[in-house]
Amino acid sequence: MPDLPMSQGVVIIGGGCVGGTLACALAQAGLQVAVVEAREPLQDWPADSVDLRVFAITRASERIFRSIGCWDAIEQGGLSPFRDMHVWDAGGTGEIHFDCAELGEPTLGYIIEQRVIQSALNARMQALPTLRRICPAELVGFETQDRGVRIELGDGGVLEANLLVGADGAASRVRGLAGIAVEAHTYRQDAIVAVVTTELPHRETAWQRFLPTGPLAFLPLRDGRSSIVWSTEKTQAAALLALDDDAFLERLSEAFAHRLGRVVAVEERGCFPLQRLHATRYVTERVALIGDAAHVIHPLAGQGVNLGLLDAATLAEVILDTHAAGRDLGLLRNLRRYERWRRGDNQRMQLAMDGFKNLFGETATPLRLLRNAGLSLVDRSGPLKQTLARHAMGLSGDLPRMAGTRF
Ligand SMILES: Cc1cc2nc3c(=O)[nH]c(=O)nc-3n(C[C@H](O)[C@H](O)[C@H](O)COP(=O)(O)OP(=O)(O)OC[C@H]3O[C@@H](n4cnc5c(N)ncnc54)[C@H](O)[C@@H]3O)c2cc1C
Repeated sequence: MPDLPMSQGVVIIGGGCVGGTLACALAQAGLQVAVVEAREPLQDWPADSVDLRVFAITRASERIFRSIGCWDAIEQGGLSPFRDMHVWDAGGTGEIHFDCAELGEPTLGYIIEQRVIQSALNARMQALPTLRRICPAELVGFETQDRGVRIELGDGGVLEANLLVGADGAASRVRGLAGIAVEAHTYRQDAIVAVVTTELPHRETAWQRFLPTGPLAFLPLRDGRSSIVWSTEKTQAAALLALDDDAFLERLSEAFAHRLGRVVAVEERGCFPLQRLHATRYVTERVALIGDAAHVIHPLAGQGVNLGLLDAATLAEVILDTHAAGRDLGLLRNLRRYERWRRGDNQRMQLAMDGFKNLFGETATPLRLLRNAGLSLVDRSGPLKQTLARHAMGLSGDLPRMAGTRF
């Protein structure tokens, strides 16, 4: 396998949604990029099937996908805009409602299958002449040197680059090999995911009910069905997974308070353990972490991949600015700007998710009454509600250029 030139080369381990986005952003600006990906993704699938993994994608992420030339392919692959969002408390009458019209936006965001995003990214990666995708291949080790980093792959291949990026997910090998520690916390919860059919139409609305055991979300799909994410304690999740379809549908309809009538059909069910994880550093000499390799958060607000895409857009900006100034891409002093820009934001989002989870897990009456009153108050307060909504859509804060560009 030929080596990458030491100058201007970036090697990204992990070609998922986050790594693939960074690769496209750098290669479309002419940088030499190699993406090492362990698993060959699905190329095609039955037309009436829905991926168990779907993402709520923010408007900021839409802008990022547009700026790397992927959005048209994602639209063609299929997406479902959501224009309203209802969040309410199972332990009272508190409710909050967001409507895109109130915010002067055409949508609040989109529900998109992971495989649709992945396939759009793969097509774009293949079209970029300075991007080399190496798949299937795995990182087994690396060594930082004076002028670059030497990367060893499982098949004995070697790559050399100025900068190594870990976009290799929650169990990141790059992070481990770089000796970067993590702050980890298990929620002792699992998320059950499934595609379901409801008696009543979803009305392009994302729904979330907070139960004392965890949140239950119904996300609208373009074929009229909904994708559910039901976060709950591990023993309850195991019991729910063991139920036959009829019993599961009954429990699900009850847990959702029949908000869309009865849930009448369910496809295959999947289950994901939930954890919070944060790398103590995002960068070391010639190494940077992005996406789940750097942080994993509770899925209750559907922010994980969106934060990862902001990491990718921010790191791309830092690398391109460094390159334009003729400086070494891998030097720690240049990479620190990326860490300063993103780590605090990601930490604040993690803390906010934990705050919501704990608040809604409280069953004591005074706290329950207080949070219900709080929800209703926020719902009636225009400016505070607007601020919350714009933040959830990724449209506020210190955004990288790719996420701030209006199309
Ligand atoms: C139930 C659930 C629901 C969620 N819903 C949402 C949502 O609605 N919205 C949202 O924004 N987020 C959501 N998330 C979070 C989201 O799934 C993750 O944040 C996102 O998938 C992380 O993307 P990534 O590219 O960083 O990592 P991954 O998706 O984990 O990709 C890592 C890639 O690296 C490759 N890889 C790993 N190790 C190696 C190696 N050694 N060598 C080569 N390649 C390697 C893997 O094959 C993989 O392709 C949800 C999570 C869960 C659990």
